[in-house]
Amino acid sequence: MRFLPVFLDLQAGPILLVGAGELAQAKLRLLLAAGARVRWHALDGQYDASSPDAATGTIEQSDTDPLSADLTNVIAVICAGAGVTGHAMAARARAAGIPVNVMDELAHSTFIFPAIVDRGDVVVAVGTGGASPVVARRVRERIEAVLPARIGDLAAFIGRWRTTIRERVADMPSRRRFWERIVDGPIGAAVLAGRVNEAEQALRAIADPSDYAMRQASGFVTLVGAGPGDPDLLTIKALRALQDADVIFYDDLVSAEVLDRARRDAALVSVGRRVGKPGIGQDAVNRLLIEAARKGQRAVRLKGGDPFIFGRGGEEVAALRDAGVPYAVIPGITAGLGAAAESEVPLTFRREALRITFLTAHKVRDAEAVDWSALTDVKMTVVVYMGMTAAPAIRAGLLAAGRSPRTPVGVFARATRPDAKAVVGILDNLPALAAQVDKGPAILVIGDVVARSAPWRNADLTQLLSNFGIAAE
Ligand code: SAH
Repeated sequence: MRFLPVFLDLQAGPILLVGAGELAQAKLRLLLAAGARVRWHALDGQYDASSPDAATGTIEQSDTDPLSADLTNVIAVICAGAGVTGHAMAARARAAGIPVNVMDELAHSTFIFPAIVDRGDVVVAVGTGGASPVVARRVRERIEAVLPARIGDLAAFIGRWRTTIRERVADMPSRRRFWERIVDGPIGAAVLAGRVNEAEQALRAIADPSDYAMRQASGFVTLVGAGPGDPDLLTIKALRALQDADVIFYDDLVSAEVLDRARRDAALVSVGRRVGKPGIGQDAVNRLLIEAARKGQRAVRLKGGDPFIFGRGGEEVAALRDAGVPYAVIPGITAGLGAAAESEVPLTFRREALRITFLTAHKVRDAEAVDWSALTDVKMTVVVYMGMTAAPAIRAGLLAAGRSPRTPVGVFARATRPDAKAVVGILDNLPALAAQVDKGPAILVIGDVVARSAPWRNADLTQLLSNFGIAAE
């Protein structure tokens, strides 16, 4: 590391800005938004600064020569669009021991600007030693995405209470534990959710902060939708929950790439079930979640797709409620939607597809129990989960109920994963199509909109003709 990130106190003195044009204006906007007092030597005499709306800083215009200007109390010198005057100014600042930055000229600078994440009291500076501002900006975007929007409010909230708590809890380690419990517990959560008054009241109600610090943290369970496989399809909230977790109970459907995004020292526990493999059973999963929360852990129940779509999330929530364990649910992109987006199946389409049914037909006997007569509407798209084994029964059920054997269908296996495979054809051939994708998990989509999908557009003409019983010449 050649450049040490430090934070400059803008209240300690003015910043001298030397330069003109758009480059100087851009630096000026940054400085004013940050609240700096800027002494500006606009070398072209153009002082028309369009300052940002939220600016809290001030500008002093200086028409004098910056090379002879008084540098007393100046905390930093910044040259932007200053040409050779910038180089001379940098030499002056160095001689006076004042930090100086000449924009895009490392050789003349003693400090450089980071990419900044600004959340009020919480500020993150990202640097690459001047090597690549683009990389710094990408890192900043990633940090922006994982930081809760109100993290600055949380820091400010704690700032307001610091002195009071320091007076009431003399011992340093206890004080640290106290603040950890506040940040990680319901009071911190209330601030992050924008309920600062509620948090103030709760904190005021803590009669004995030392005792509070020692009590066991209250555990929490978050049901998180992991999406269909591509880790970039995790929601920002899901990512945060994964980064915060002490323990993660995950399904077989959750991809390794998604698990990779979890906090490094979170315990990963597989509670998967697979067709033909018993797994540990729903009651056991419920018990594990409740036990983890009672131990004070932040537990995540990570489920493929969305927790409330064929994911038994409803049962888990009921069990947690009965046990008095606090929980939250974070939705995920369900496999049907992931597959549809990837293969460009518009699940609804003006005048053509007005309804969608999501159904599951795990076993042949499930498929036989479905009332297929409710699914014959040509304007309805049918999305079937866990339908691979029962594909022949699904075909038979729909045909017997009167849906056309020529209805377009698609089988979308391992959607959004690197080894995704999609095959399309007609309902009459559904079992054969399901056999072509090798292995699951796979979604079946039945309806005219499948003919609008990318695989249908790209399908081999011979295959499509043969679907319709026409032999190619
Ligand atoms: N809660 C999950 C569904 C669980 S049921 C969700 O919302 O997606 C399991 C079924 O989901 C599988 O049998 C398969 O039909 C479907 N599925 C899950 N991931 C899939 C993927 N990446 N591609 C295709 N289908 C998938």
